[in-house]
Amino acid sequence: MIKESGHENWAFPLLIPREYLMKEAEHIEGFAPEVAWVTRAGGNMEELEEPLAVRPTSETIIGPLIKRYIQSHRDLPKLTNQWNSVVRWEMRSRLFLRSREFWWQEGHTFHASAREAMDEVALILGYYRSIAEDWLAIPVLTGKKSPAETFPGAVYTLTLEGLMRDSLALQTGTSHYFGQNFARAYDISFSNRENERELCYSTSWGISTRLVGALVMAHGDDSGIIVPPKVAPIQVVVVPIFRDDEGRAKVERFIESWAPELKAAGIRHRVDWRDERPGDKYAHWELKGVPLRLNVGGRDADAGQVEMVDRLTRQKASVPVSGIGARLRTELDTFQKKLFERAQKFQRDNTFELETLGEVVAHFRERGGFVWAHWCGESDDEARIKTEAGGVTIRTVDESTSGKCLVCGKPAKYRVSLAKAY
Ligand SMILES: [Zn+2]
Repeated sequence: MIKESGHENWAFPLLIPREYLMKEAEHIEGFAPEVAWVTRAGGNMEELEEPLAVRPTSETIIGPLIKRYIQSHRDLPKLTNQWNSVVRWEMRSRLFLRSREFWWQEGHTFHASAREAMDEVALILGYYRSIAEDWLAIPVLTGKKSPAETFPGAVYTLTLEGLMRDSLALQTGTSHYFGQNFARAYDISFSNRENERELCYSTSWGISTRLVGALVMAHGDDSGIIVPPKVAPIQVVVVPIFRDDEGRAKVERFIESWAPELKAAGIRHRVDWRDERPGDKYAHWELKGVPLRLNVGGRDADAGQVEMVDRLTRQKASVPVSGIGARLRTELDTFQKKLFERAQKFQRDNTFELETLGEVVAHFRERGGFVWAHWCGESDDEARIKTEAGGVTIRTVDESTSGKCLVCGKPAKYRVSLAKAY
């Protein structure tokens, strides 16, 4: 999706000179507590004259470099993306969700008009929504972040918020509109159609390995993870069942007679010939979240069928091997759909409408989920929600003229979703 919409992959340096990092005041203020610095180098670990930051995100290295590629409006838009890891020195790390080093893609784009840059921010959010919902089967709320939660240096931030099975929310992707803030700090300008110098409008956006955490926590159960078929490295695992060499040879011949059909149908599959008991193999592949398992024994070979077990419902079905490729294709599509519907139902069952801060406080004492309420926009009110409701934060903000602010009771300007979040 990123490439098809005209973005190119670029690669920018990992280490950022301190002076570059310090240029956009709000940005550096937001990131300062999490930046890791290289202060020494060489065999004698000599002190560097100027420390280098390990990128926490790349706006501050891209700005000074990209300006060399932008002279005229004909050079715009510049649509870049890079796949890389970044470092944020988190004091409390958490696997996949908040790790000191994480892998992501970061897109950075530069435009000749505010309208075009804002459209870009919305376009990318739509792609991210599609990745979350159509591929990872995680339904998401989308909307703006409140000013307190906006990316440092951005005019506004759009976000995706998913609900995990422990009923905590998880931010799974963001897309930021910078207006001319970064262009001003790094002097990224172009000559417009009237031949006047004008500052660029820029955006940045990213999704990370946090989505792996989202996948684990949105679908997993006590037996392990459940991987949506569309992204499963192994969609179908075949477990041969036999007692002796003769039995093994028979089952092997049988599997070889139809396994090419799976390949032809584009199904990613593996036959598990490891020297383990079948029961251990079942547990192993359930833990890994493989959507469909086929148990194949000598009697199945005689009957020309296999036993199919679904990771989501654990239901068993006999499937004839004739036409097995097409059948499993359909089963995988159904699995993907059911997994998304289950997550949608979970989100619906855990979404509430409340009117006052008192109700919100009482609600989050008992349970989690998303709560919709109205807000006047005052940051003091936002801070009160967080303090009084034990860490509950505004997840998304939509414009709205109806309703009263849940905190102060004045006419509301926004409809907001609230949740406890990772
Ligand atoms: Zn208020």
